[in-house]
Amino acid sequence: MKSGLLSQLESVLNKKYILSDDESKAPYLTDWRKRYTGKALAVVLPANANEVAQIMKICAATSTAVIPQGGHTGFCGGATPDSSGNQIIINLKRMNQVREIDIANQTISLEAGCILQVVQEKAAEQGFLFPLSLGAEGSCMIGGNLATNAGGTNVLRYGNTRDLCLGLEVVTAQGEIWNGMKGLRKDNTGYDLRDLFVGSEGTLGIITAAVMKLYPLPISQWTTLVATQDIASTIALLNLFQKRATSLLTGFEMMTSESLALNQKHFPHMANPLQGNPPNTILIELSDHESEEHVKQLLETILEEAFESGLISDAVIATNLSQANSFWQMREHITLAQAEEGANLKHDITIPLSALDDFISQTDALLRARYPGVRIINFGHLGDGNLHYNIAPPPGIDFKAFNLANEKPVHELVYAQVERCKGSISAEHGVGQLKLDGLRAHKGEVAHDLMKAIKKALDPQNILNPHKVVSI
Ligand SMILES: Cc1cc2nc3c(=O)[nH]c(=O)nc-3n(C[C@H](O)[C@H](O)[C@H](O)COP(=O)(O)OP(=O)(O)OC[C@H]3O[C@@H](n4cnc5c(N)ncnc54)[C@H](O)[C@@H]3O)c2cc1C
Repeated sequence: MKSGLLSQLESVLNKKYILSDDESKAPYLTDWRKRYTGKALAVVLPANANEVAQIMKICAATSTAVIPQGGHTGFCGGATPDSSGNQIIINLKRMNQVREIDIANQTISLEAGCILQVVQEKAAEQGFLFPLSLGAEGSCMIGGNLATNAGGTNVLRYGNTRDLCLGLEVVTAQGEIWNGMKGLRKDNTGYDLRDLFVGSEGTLGIITAAVMKLYPLPISQWTTLVATQDIASTIALLNLFQKRATSLLTGFEMMTSESLALNQKHFPHMANPLQGNPPNTILIELSDHESEEHVKQLLETILEEAFESGLISDAVIATNLSQANSFWQMREHITLAQAEEGANLKHDITIPLSALDDFISQTDALLRARYPGVRIINFGHLGDGNLHYNIAPPPGIDFKAFNLANEKPVHELVYAQVERCKGSISAEHGVGQLKLDGLRAHKGEVAHDLMKAIKKALDPQNILNPHKVVSI
């Protein structure tokens, strides 16, 4: 039956776009963190929505499960197949055309396989900002960003990927094409299908194209690193910036000294320019469409006020673009430094800002009491209450052995504190297969049952990314 399936696929795609030997499939089978490796009957590379639709029709007729895949940079194993060897990966990388930049409507219509960084560059060429920005932007794709509702460093000002999306084109589990490629900012015509597919991690449909919002490109940007001694001052500092800079505040990222120590170890050229290894290094960015001088003065005034009220103890303002980039590089390299060091126990969580101090102090204390010497690599998009609260074994202890013995209790401890503080167990990375088991307890029975009902209605055969997000 399975070789019959491959020959049916050959009626849709040129053979060279159906990868079925082990060597050509290998790069698509292991996730970025190397936590999951699966098997696949084939990896198919369609060139347009019609081809995706025909592939889905064949898969629906043969009850074959498909795994939609973009850049394969997701952190939850969502784009990795299971170990059966019966699933088909549909990788969208050949669908990488920008269809239109609509200047008057300030939108870009593009295919799902466009690399995020290319989208930013295409927008900038026309004088626009496409504000989605994250560490994997050189390889993640817009379809993957939409499917995971990715966050990143600009959420504070521009929102998640969901907030940037106006329209979608989606291939359904039955192989129909839904054309919702409208660039409308208002459209109250019943259930919002676009919002249903955004964040559904390939379990409800395959996103083949999208209409995304563009913004005027800022002409001035000022970036600073400041030192804070504790979380309470950090939140007060954020509130001060929100009050004084309002919408000019475009970045507010936190890096603890333990996170930056990892950077220092693996990327020694990334030294923190702040004095004395402060407990928290905060990266702040202001952007504006007015003169450079206006933003700089505003930044200096706010920093002065922060110094006077004791919220910060040191500050360095980037004097040029390359220094500003090096500040952002420090932030982005923490994820890479962790990957170099060993597989951390990761928690991508959100906590209401008002409970953040309580969460961090209690959870840090509980972890340090239970696992003496444990390293807490805590950093993230603090402006959104989003922490990457990751746990590494004490120096000298083997990662594999520590994780094997402690993964479950560490997750339980951290997630219990997340629930106590009314947070979320997945801020921006999604659920995938990593967080499938904990979801029912976290969402509550009613919400979880509604999710199952939606999945059953749209994909009754359970062939779209089965056993990811929600099992039916
Ligand atoms: C260094 C690094 C930094 C990162 N920083 C951030 C960050 O700051 N914020 C953040 O949110 N994430 C971050 N991520 C995670 C990751 O980059 C995002 O989740 C990204 O949106 C995934 O895009 P992708 O194309 O790689 O998707 P993939 O990994 O290929 O897929 C992710 C999920 O989406 C589904 N999918 C993919 N394409 C489609 C499609 N066309 N239609 C339907 N479903 C689809 C897959 O089945 C899977 O479930 C980071 C990752 C790395 C490696």
